[in-house]
Amino acid sequence: MGLMWTIVGFIAGISILVYLELVKRYHLDLISWTGLIVGELTILFGIAWSVSSVLEGVPRSGSMGAIMFGGLGLIIIILTWRFKIQHFPKSENEIASNSVNSPGEESENSRRNFLKSTSMAAFGWQKIVGSVLGIGAIGTTAYAIKKSSGVILDDVPNAIADDYKRMDNRKVIQTFVHSDKLQEKYKNRVEKWENASIDRMDGFKVKGSYKKYAEGKPKDEVGYTQLEYALAGASWQTSLKGNPVTVTPNYGVNSWDQSQVDKTQYKFKTKQDASDAIKTAAKLFGASKVSITKQDDRWDYDHLYDPINEKDVSWDDFPFKAKTVIVCLIEMDYVAMSTAPTVVTDGTSGQGYSDMIVVTDHLATFIRKLGYHAVASGNDLGLSVAYAVAAGLGEVSRAGWLITRDLGPRVRICKIYTDLDFVEYDKPRDYSITNFCINCKRCADACPSEAISQEDNPTFGPTYEGADDPEYSWNSHAGVLKWHSDSKKCYEFWVENEGSCSSCIASCPYNKPDFWHHDLVDTSNVVVPGPGHTFMREMDIMFGYGKTNDPDAVKKFWKSGRD
Ligand code: SF4
Ligand code: SF4
Repeated sequence: MGLMWTIVGFIAGISILVYLELVKRYHLDLISWTGLIVGELTILFGIAWSVSSVLEGVPRSGSMGAIMFGGLGLIIIILTWRFKIQHFPKSENEIASNSVNSPGEESENSRRNFLKSTSMAAFGWQKIVGSVLGIGAIGTTAYAIKKSSGVILDDVPNAIADDYKRMDNRKVIQTFVHSDKLQEKYKNRVEKWENASIDRMDGFKVKGSYKKYAEGKPKDEVGYTQLEYALAGASWQTSLKGNPVTVTPNYGVNSWDQSQVDKTQYKFKTKQDASDAIKTAAKLFGASKVSITKQDDRWDYDHLYDPINEKDVSWDDFPFKAKTVIVCLIEMDYVAMSTAPTVVTDGTSGQGYSDMIVVTDHLATFIRKLGYHAVASGNDLGLSVAYAVAAGLGEVSRAGWLITRDLGPRVRICKIYTDLDFVEYDKPRDYSITNFCINCKRCADACPSEAISQEDNPTFGPTYEGADDPEYSWNSHAGVLKWHSDSKKCYEFWVENEGSCSSCIASCPYNKPDFWHHDLVDTSNVVVPGPGHTFMREMDIMFGYGKTNDPDAVKKFWKSGRD
């Protein structure tokens, strides 16, 4: 990166010398200066974009950046020269150096003086137009920066219907597929699901199906060999030891046991001190981002179920009145995610789940040792995405998962429930992400099972085929204005794929490594109108981002550990 900024700085320095020479030679007006400077900045931007893209390993984006931005800058400069600068009178110095004039030249000079005075007269309106454009550009940039860091809201950005009902943990796909008892109890749901799957997948049976993707068999296929299955299996180890089925309440590391709570309660001086301490500890334990929100009944499951011991779990037995939920995000690996839908993505998902175990276990212990009650939570107890949105970490996307401002969709979410309420709470924010989803649909196009909604706008309930049959759409969570995926179709693909998938995450334009030019694009998203989002989506594809089913990505992943 250092070399890139040196090149940019060198070119900028040279241009200043060129500009000084132009000042000596010509009387340039505002439009000419604007043309020259905008053209040059566009070229410099193209160079910086190209070098950054090559450094992040996307050479196609590098060449596209050079052609588009560099070419555009060059065209602006050439047009400015051809139609403006060339026709300007030379400066007095330049005229003085040619002081012996012939009679013909005298008349030429008076014509130039006339042109000069005309251009000075025109300077008035140019100044006004230039000032308006300048102020407009500065204002728009300031607005975009402010808006992209989130407009603070009183409640989550999604509208909630009056008849909204809390989600039942038994309806969560992972709970259902891990529970023979629930499948026995809700035979109709199993039957409807299996019947619907006939057209999609040969011989799908719900019972025991999770073993197919959890224990897939290596084959002679890029991304599915013993190497990748070993990676995936290893990455899940800590998660399996902590809580083997992540939706299970009061189990393993997510135990409700509070015997560790210290008798002495640490008193923070201010709420801000308490929040700072919690966030600092969480990051030390491995969280990528942390936010704190109030416990909210709307996001907690109204019925808890333990699919490992096949039993109902009651909130009445929860050991304290939870007042606060600390939401932690764990970043997943960009290069691994780019291999979707191969088993390499299981490596980064599994590592994310394992990190969740460590972060939540350590953070819950930290809070208990401060004398407050705390329970670690993965996908049990409540809706992680909803809590993350409430905590201002991002917005719910078309695909259903969270999109954050900084890390995009490449995160896993975990939580701590505690009675410590002397904290500074974070607020939900509108990042204009849902707005981008309306015109994007890249995840829906990339989804191999067509599970993600293609509806233009969010809806309060599912709209997929069979949505009006409660025995088919039982796993949907109606009552929230969002896009509703058919997660049964997604699950079927995991079984067929003998590994999970993540193609929706990999293809999302918000899924980018941490580079300045991606931040810039994300920032500009918020001021670009709808059709512009469609254009940005197409540019994202043209620049070579968001590919799935790319065997080269697997090779690239296995080299990414090199120094
Ligand atoms: S994980 Fe794959 S199958 Fe599931 S919704 Fe995403 S893209 Fe579709
Ligand atoms: S791929 Fe596009 S539509 Fe899908 S979640 Fe990302 S931004 Fe939204």
